[in-house]
Amino acid sequence: MEILVLGSGTSHGVPMIGCSCSVCRSENPKNRRFRPSILVRNGEETLLIDTTPELRLQCLQFDVKRVDAILFTHTHADHIFGLDDVRRFNDMQGVDLPAYGDEGTLADIRRIYPYIFTATQMGGGKPRLKLLEVPRQFSLFGMQIQSFYVLHGKLPVLAYRFDLEATKEAPAQSFAYVTDVSYIPPEAMERLQGLDVLLLDAVRFDPHPTHFGLYQALEVIQQLQPKKAWLTHLSHHFDHDKVNADLPEGVALSYDGLSVDVGQI
Ligand SMILES: [Zn+2]
Ligand SMILES: [Zn+2]
Ligand SMILES: [Zn+2]
Repeated sequence: MEILVLGSGTSHGVPMIGCSCSVCRSENPKNRRFRPSILVRNGEETLLIDTTPELRLQCLQFDVKRVDAILFTHTHADHIFGLDDVRRFNDMQGVDLPAYGDEGTLADIRRIYPYIFTATQMGGGKPRLKLLEVPRQFSLFGMQIQSFYVLHGKLPVLAYRFDLEATKEAPAQSFAYVTDVSYIPPEAMERLQGLDVLLLDAVRFDPHPTHFGLYQALEVIQQLQPKKAWLTHLSHHFDHDKVNADLPEGVALSYDGLSVDVGQI
């Protein structure tokens, strides 16, 4: 199982419009952050989590040529406003894309993108989606997937856990993506036990009404003890190299283009 971080940034992206702080002006490519999204691959088959406003640029930059299904966490603009760009995957692969979300997410997508679901004249074509209510537990492309809620302020947001069973050649693998979170309820903490890799929200140093601050995220990581944790949904408060140098062993800031082979952790 391979994870590719397409975007490690918060909703404003980094650099932020009109900001001249040292991180926004930094030459370090790891301080340039697209809006938050990842790919999860098992062999060739590729799951895309969220469709950010930069989906096209992300796919060009990281040479993404295939997407087999989409999972949505929630419908804030930074997570869904690139949905139209999946047309290329429809065209290249000649398929309708399964897109999973909870009932509220699917209703929002129908409301925000009415042209996708009604007969209209559109020269450039429309995304072809199969909207599916995400099961709590299901299997896709050889992975066992669990969806469960964490809280983003007062808004329940879906987190996802992916497990690969052990084979003769390789041990079991597990990964979870928990973005846009300010509180993880006990039942979700249960599902996050025994992970190889955790990718977790940490928007800035200080607590935030709808996201973990760095120290809250580190406390959760301390409780869960994944083998390795990366932080995401990062704002311009984090200078990549400086902050990384001070993080505890086994924890690091993610960055756009980070690729993690979960079997090698
Ligand atoms: Zn977000
Ligand atoms: Zn800045
Ligand atoms: Zn959000």
